[in-house]
Amino acid sequence: MNQHIMPEGDRQVVEIDRQGDIMYTYYNDGLVKITKFRKKKIYWGRVMIAAVVFILLMFGFVQLFKAIGSALKKDSGSLEQKSPTEPAFVFDGTVEKNNAGGSAKEDSDGTSSETVSETKDPGYSGIELKVCIDPGHGDVDFGGVGGEGMLEKDQDLELSLMIKEYLESCGVTVTMTRETDTNVSLSDRCSKANLAGSDLFVSIHRTSDQNSLGSTNGVQVWVNNKQPRYDTALAQNILNALSEVGISRDLGVRYGYDGLPDSNYQVNMDTVMPSCMVDLGFITDDTDNQLFDQHKQEYARAIGDAMIKTAVDLGVVSENGERLLNEQLLSDGKSNVTMN
Ligand SMILES: [Zn+2]
Repeated sequence: MNQHIMPEGDRQVVEIDRQGDIMYTYYNDGLVKITKFRKKKIYWGRVMIAAVVFILLMFGFVQLFKAIGSALKKDSGSLEQKSPTEPAFVFDGTVEKNNAGGSAKEDSDGTSSETVSETKDPGYSGIELKVCIDPGHGDVDFGGVGGEGMLEKDQDLELSLMIKEYLESCGVTVTMTRETDTNVSLSDRCSKANLAGSDLFVSIHRTSDQNSLGSTNGVQVWVNNKQPRYDTALAQNILNALSEVGISRDLGVRYGYDGLPDSNYQVNMDTVMPSCMVDLGFITDDTDNQLFDQHKQEYARAIGDAMIKTAVDLGVVSENGERLLNEQLLSDGKSNVTMN
C-alpha cells in the first residue's frame, strides 16, 4: 500500500528494439513496453477448402474399400466376423500429477478434469518457470507501521525471501526487486521483472489502518483495473491458497487502487506479465499479526504453490514443470501490452 500513482504522459521513448515477434519500447524512466505481433497470417478459407476436399476424398476411399470388401466376402462365402476396431494407442492410465499442496480440485475454470492417478508429491522440482517477487517499500520508505516498532518493509522482505527460497527449491528462477533494506523505485522494480523475462510478478505487502471499504483486518489481493484474466487467476489462486492456510478474513481480489478504481498500483500497471499485489493482513491488527507470525512459512509456500499452479493452468509449464511456452508470458489485458 501507500504506493504512488503513476502519472502517464510524461514519458519519452528512448529506444525501440524489435526482436522477432516482440517489440520492446524503452522509455526514459526505465519503463519497457512490449508489443507482441501475431505470428503468421493463416488463410482460413484455403484451410477449410483443403479440409473439405480431404474429407470427401477419404470418404470416397472408405466407400470404395467397403464395396470391394463386401464383394470379396460374397465371392468367398466366408462368415468371418469383423474384428473390433482397435484403439490407435493404449493408455495405461498412469499420468503423474504434481499437486501443489493438494488444493487444486475446486478450480473448474478451463482446467480439464481427466482421470489421473493422484500421487501425493512432496513438491515440485526443476520447474522451467521465471518469476519476480517484489518485497514492498524499503529503506526510508517504511510502508505500514504497527505496534512496537513493527515495520511493513521488514515483514515484506522477510516473507518475500521465504517465497524465493521455496520457489528456488522447486527449480523456479526467481528475480527479486530487492533482497536487502534498500529503496528501489517502482519503475525500476517493473523494468527489472520485464527485462528478466519473468512470467509472473507478485508484490508482497501488508496494509494498515483500514481500507476504502472500512475493513481493518483480512487479506486482499490487487489486480490491474482492466481486470486481465491471467492476472486475476494469479491473484485468486494466491488468495485461495492463503485461505487454506488460514487468514482472518478474505477481502477478495480487488481491482485498481484502494479508493481509486480508475487508478492502478504502478507494479500492476508497468509490468508486462500477469501481476498482483498481495496485502497479507493489516499490520495494525493484532489477529492478523499473530497469524502472520505463526504462519509466515506456510504463507510463503502457499504463495509459491499458487504461482506454480497458475503457470500450469495458463499453459506456461506442464504439470511436470516442463516448459510449454516458448516466450515470456504476457498479461492479457494491461495497457502496456498490445497483442496485434
Ligand atoms: Zn505496502
